[in-house]
Amino acid sequence: MRTDFTKAQLADPDYAESASTIRKCVHCGFCTATCPTYVLLGDERDSPRGRIELIRAMLERGGRPTKAEVTHVDRCLSCLACTTTCPSGVDYGQLIGHARAHIEANYPRPWPQRLLRVALPYILTRPRRLRAALALGRSAQGLEPWFRRLRLAPLAALLRLVPASAKAPRGVGTYPAVEARRGRVILLQGCVEPAMAPQVREAAVRLLARAGYDVVLAEGEGCCGAISEHLGRADEAREMARRNVLAWAHLAPDAIVTTAAGCGTTLKAYAHVLGEEGVHVAARARDVLEFLAEVGLPPIVNVTGLAVAYHAPCSLQHGQKLGVQPARLLADAGFDVRAVPEGHLCCGSAGVYNILQPELATRLRDRKAANIARTGAVVVAAGNVGCMAQIAPALDAPVVHPVELLDWATGGPRPETLDRVVRARRRAR
Ligand code: SF4
Ligand code: SF4
Repeated sequence: MRTDFTKAQLADPDYAESASTIRKCVHCGFCTATCPTYVLLGDERDSPRGRIELIRAMLERGGRPTKAEVTHVDRCLSCLACTTTCPSGVDYGQLIGHARAHIEANYPRPWPQRLLRVALPYILTRPRRLRAALALGRSAQGLEPWFRRLRLAPLAALLRLVPASAKAPRGVGTYPAVEARRGRVILLQGCVEPAMAPQVREAAVRLLARAGYDVVLAEGEGCCGAISEHLGRADEAREMARRNVLAWAHLAPDAIVTTAAGCGTTLKAYAHVLGEEGVHVAARARDVLEFLAEVGLPPIVNVTGLAVAYHAPCSLQHGQKLGVQPARLLADAGFDVRAVPEGHLCCGSAGVYNILQPELATRLRDRKAANIARTGAVVVAAGNVGCMAQIAPALDAPVVHPVELLDWATGGPRPETLDRVVRARRRAR
């Protein structure tokens, strides 16, 4: 695709990078078939190719974006399915990040949207604030239909994601290896996951310790920056990245392990966000399933043969290009893994997309739930807390993180959410 940026624009590294990204696009359109918003809406401006053209025009012109440009950029899930399909290697993630930052700096949104976009990172990036908001949400569950009637769809969407209960997970410290020690890893504590699904951290610590690793939950770290990045708040995201790099600088781990796929994608981009300062973290960042595939699972002591539908989070399969490892690990641990039809399509979670674009997100969720139901599996495994919260309300089968299943198979407790499934199996025998 041709570009016509001015010399002054190209002197800015962000514009120079975007110009190079745009020029790689040859307009072939292969990406359209795998783009969830194009599949749903059939509008070229909601396809990757259409958005690249739209972003080119918006950035070249500079200044205030049009309402249409904002609408079509906002509808993008940042799922990066287009990067998996693109034969020309277009770094669409870089381009959409630049577009969002440009809109954030130059477009005056209506005040309710502005308020929501400030409130989301304020609440979601601090586990204590999020836990307090969830407690409030639990007591306000009955208000969801009212919010929908009052056209306060984002608030109704938020309430739908609130878990019935959640305990606080273990805090900072070093949890020693329980088998022959092989090394030390930092486990990113995250901000949304410990509040929404604290059992995931517990399972990951047990599993990694059983695999021979001391597990460090580090003092002073915070949100990885993904939520701010999704909202176009690039400076805020950069500051969060910097804080984490400093918090981990003295620890010299073998790996920095994440259990939320979206956070892993963000950590792996620290070199891009921070330059030299972020290289060390980016090189050591591993999704927990990627890490276990590299170092090997602890011995399997409990083979259940349970039928599991593996839902591949976009941030894992497209963002980190980890397509096969998670399902293979589950199969190695004795589960009957079922592939989900249309597995490349996003479930609609996509960071805070399900709050900002609840209508499209719900359509994607229902499509995903129908595809999962077709597998006939009794359990669903999804390696990202956002996906877990998004799809669980639309499914009869319980949704767990793969590390909960791997922990169980290697000697850990059975995930509580599976009690119902196991009881039903026993009755059927
Ligand atoms: S990131 Fe996802 S929603 Fe956005 S253009 Fe690419 S495929 Fe479409
Ligand atoms: S597949 Fe790649 S090169 Fe082809 S239109 Fe899409 S982004 Fe452009």
